[in-house]
Order: sequence, then structure tokens, then C-alpha cells
Amino acid sequence: MATSPADELRTAAQTLRERAASATPGPWRREDDQRRLERFVSSENGTLDINFGYLGNNNQADAEYVALMDPGVGAALADWLDAEATSPVADLHSDACRERGCTINAALAVARQINGGAQ
Ligand SMILES: [Zn+2]
Repeated sequence: MATSPADELRTAAQTLRERAASATPGPWRREDDQRRLERFVSSENGTLDINFGYLGNNNQADAEYVALMDPGVGAALADWLDAEATSPVADLHSDACRERGCTINAALAVARQINGGAQ
């Protein structure tokens, strides 16, 4: 059974919202522990402490990316997916759409990444 575009968007929004709500609140930031030569992503309240390992492992971009995509971003993305799902054209949309700047297409691309990766 085919899932409608709006359903795909709502499913992804719900998954994202639940995961964001369960995660340590942001903001998250990248930190370097110069004494131990390790890189971390930490939360402002100090309860999150992701160790990316030795500073020489070229993981700075990964740490900065994780810090950037904290639960606040996830919650905002969930709101956007829900907003697109309520669009009067969401369920009229098809994968054949080639309209430049189609926000349903953009939202579906995000939703499919989330829905495909949900565990
Ligand atoms: Zn479209």
C-alpha cells in the first residue's frame, strides 16, 4: 500500500520530534580537551558528553556537525515537515514533480532520510 506524501511527512515529523524530545536539550557545542587531546560535543547543561576521540583523527567536521544538529534543529525540522504535510497540495504531489523550489519535494527528501533510517 502506497503511503501518501502527507503521511510520509507526518511519520518523519513524529519520529524526529520524539527523538529530539528524548535527547539532551541543546545547545550543543564542540569542545577540545587540550589536556587529554580529545574532542567532545557537550550540552550546555553538561549532561551530554560525546567523545569523538583524539584531536588528530580529523574528526573536527563531524563534531561540529553533530553540535550543529542538536535537538532544537530536530524540533524545528519536525515543525517544518508537519507544516508541509498540512499544505493543500501535499497529497496532490507526486514523485514526478520537477518544479524548481518545490517545498514538498524538499520536505519529502528529508522525511525519507528519516523514515528510512528510523530504528
Ligand atoms: Zn512538487
